[in-house]
Amino acid sequence: MSLRIVVCVKYVPDATGDRHFADDLTLDRDDVDGLLSELDEYAVEQALQIAAEADDAETTVLTVGPEDAKDALRKALSMGADKAVHVEDDDLHGTDVLGTSLVLAKAIEKTGYDLVICGMASTDGTMGVLPAVLAERLGVPQVTLLSEVSVEGGAGGTVKGRRDGDSASESLEASLPAVVSVTDQSGEARYPSFKGIMAAKKKPVQAWDLGDLEIEADEVGLEGAWTKVDSATERPARTAGTIVKDEGEGGKQLAGFLAERKFV
Ligand SMILES: Cc1cc2nc3c(=O)[nH]c(=O)nc-3n(C[C@H](O)[C@H](O)[C@H](O)COP(=O)(O)OP(=O)(O)OC[C@H]3O[C@@H](n4cnc5c(N)ncnc54)[C@H](O)[C@@H]3O)c2cc1C
Repeated sequence: MSLRIVVCVKYVPDATGDRHFADDLTLDRDDVDGLLSELDEYAVEQALQIAAEADDAETTVLTVGPEDAKDALRKALSMGADKAVHVEDDDLHGTDVLGTSLVLAKAIEKTGYDLVICGMASTDGTMGVLPAVLAERLGVPQVTLLSEVSVEGGAGGTVKGRRDGDSASESLEASLPAVVSVTDQSGEARYPSFKGIMAAKKKPVQAWDLGDLEIEADEVGLEGAWTKVDSATERPARTAGTIVKDEGEGGKQLAGFLAERKFV
């Protein structure tokens, strides 16, 4: 039986861009470019390696995100994933981690899966909890923060991995189906090749909305969220730095600058 791998990938705002809050204190996503979360590239990479080792495997990349999140899916497809699922719905606006995990769980169940692979955290929300919440919703084991991962015995087999802590490394194992998350130490993510980019254009992207997943609008969005942002203050714009011209006293001036700010 084919090993069905689902990789959860998030489309995140570019951290180098200027990010602002909208009037309802959610992120103004129209205002900033986005991309596939860098930490999820590691998840895609591990999925592709596991699929290559298996006799028969299929890799699906899944995102819950706005229209532009297709870019993240295309990148994962151009890395080598077989197909994609995009869940998009206006009612998702303001959804928190509990809502997002509900939508992902329903989409994963509808797709069919043996192994779900997530990144260690998104590069915007950075909560790092979604894989655990997702495993709970799916009712399957979770093995998180792995820096090494492999599957033995195909779809009915086990997932094994290594979790590195400060003082010890743990070897962990779970029966499939299961949810795992992988760290940025799990192995360099590949760059899409030209051939991969061209092939990705023809790969299927399934679009679902909340109705397709039998989720009511009030279970997600700002209304269904368990967390709420009460207020937010934008950081003041960065001021121009101090330039020290060395005309013989540059060293002293630098030391004075640092001492004044209690750096030395
Ligand atoms: C359109 C939209 C609007 C949103 N608005 C808000 C809001 O106003 N307030 C709020 O708190 N949250 C909002 N969210 C949800 C939020 O962006 C996160 O997806 C969610 O809270 C998970 O938290 P995190 O990013 O810290 O995940 P983490 O726990 O850090 O993520 C770990 C891993 O989970 C997977 N993952 C996380 N999110 C997604 C995703 N969307 N799709 C696929 N895989 C994923 C990735 O593999 C990731 O590496 C919104 C999401 C969407 C799509």
